[in-house]
Amino acid sequence: MTVIKKDVAVLKNFIGGKWVDSLSSQTLEVLNPATNEEIARVPISTKEDVAMAVKAAKLASETWKKTPVPKRARILYKYHTLLSDNHDELARLVVQENGKSFKEAYGEVQRGLECVEFACGAPTLMMGETLSGIAEDIDSEMFRYPLGVVGGITPFNFPMMVPLWMFPLAIACGNTFVLKPSERTPILANRLAELLTEAGMPDGVFNVVHGAHDVVNGLLENKDIAAISFVGSQPVAKYVYQQAASQGKRVQALSGAKNHHIVMPDADFNKAAEHIISSAFGSAGQRCMACSAVVVVGDNEEFVKALNKKADELCIGDGMDEEVLLTPVIRKENREKTLGYIEKGIQEGASLIRDGRKEMEDFKEGNFLGATIFDHVTPEMTIAKEEMFAPILSLLRAEDLDGGLDYIRQSRYGNGATIYTKDAGAVRQFREEADAGMLGINVGVPATMAFFPFSGWKDSFYGDMHVNGKDGVNFYTRKKMITSRFDF
Ligand code: NAD
Repeated sequence: MTVIKKDVAVLKNFIGGKWVDSLSSQTLEVLNPATNEEIARVPISTKEDVAMAVKAAKLASETWKKTPVPKRARILYKYHTLLSDNHDELARLVVQENGKSFKEAYGEVQRGLECVEFACGAPTLMMGETLSGIAEDIDSEMFRYPLGVVGGITPFNFPMMVPLWMFPLAIACGNTFVLKPSERTPILANRLAELLTEAGMPDGVFNVVHGAHDVVNGLLENKDIAAISFVGSQPVAKYVYQQAASQGKRVQALSGAKNHHIVMPDADFNKAAEHIISSAFGSAGQRCMACSAVVVVGDNEEFVKALNKKADELCIGDGMDEEVLLTPVIRKENREKTLGYIEKGIQEGASLIRDGRKEMEDFKEGNFLGATIFDHVTPEMTIAKEEMFAPILSLLRAEDLDGGLDYIRQSRYGNGATIYTKDAGAVRQFREEADAGMLGINVGVPATMAFFPFSGWKDSFYGDMHVNGKDGVNFYTRKKMITSRFDF
């Protein structure tokens, strides 16, 4: 963290419809992970910056909560058009600050658009319920209301999609919003704010405060924040959940993951290998739904061969290059940490069958690393237990499906799991017994779409109501019950 440099733009906060400088003079460099070139500086805002944003959001809330729901939705329709018109530009911004491939970034923008589409259904989604005649001449009705001001805290790996999991639906439900984007990928958030203003969103409904821990703590401590949506790593998710809950706030905290893919002996090995390679190494393994552990069922060397072959064919490089799948990790420190995991895997006795370190030498700049695969990994090894969030894949061996399901059960995480098979019985057993919230049947990244909840289990999620779908609507609204007597 250093003092402001003159030649690179320092991002502004967006508060009450205005672009304002942070009260802090501290900034952090924002780097392009493919080159480590500084592309912007992000202010490390203070709790006072947060208080200003919450004040603006609270003021806007008075009018916004009374704005008719279809009128709120119409602004989001316009927003959807603007986001679609700028689809390419938004994807390029994602590549520049996150490093993932353009194809992945384009897909991410699409996932974000779908969240806006879902939020446009607010007039239907916010409908209440009625029952005529709960007793003689007495009826009951339920109405939904917004909560007030909601805070959102987001990670580096989906700078477009994750904020859009939160604020379009929160706003459509009549809340106002303060977003704290990741300090490592903060640029896109400002573009999202610009386009929302262009769509006609009133001042103060959506605010952005850049920074790190102080901004997070400022949101958690602020009495005027009614709810917190968080997505990030497990220790921080748990901290945010506990702090927010202790302040009486509603909270949904999406956390880390370790996703197991079971390859059954009857699976199509080529297709399974293709899906696993793309899931494990796309976005350099930095996806909460990435496959990080494969359970090879039976004596299945043919599959392992197919997997290795596809890993050798992987194209590594800058995300703007069309051929590329394996892109850089977010920061040099993340690459260092990944190298530490490779060492640990070797020390703990796993067989290194593909060493991604050798490809590092081909890249002078950027945080590149090849695909690493360990075989004969056992559940007590560090690389089997921890979320590495890196291009490392662990292969575990099991005699049968029960053994594979056991590995999933032993994991502290339960975001996603996949099975590759044609056997209906195995599919059913997997569906019933896999201890995770988002399952794939022959699907490499079984991430749910905006109209379903993003449904992690165990230490992958803290809270009750997930993001998206009806859970999202329940999270961002509170209910009022009316009981009426008509024989008065
Ligand atoms: P991170 O936890 O480092 O950061 C997330 C947010 O928390 C950022 O805005 C950051 O500024 C803030 N933060 C970080 N440390 C903090 C602290 N000590 N106190 C207060 N605030 C703090 O996560 P990341 O590295 O940006 O993102 C990757 C993680 O996010 C992975 O663990 C991944 O699995 C997880 N993730 C989960 C999901 C999901 O749906 N479960 C989706 C995307 C990412």
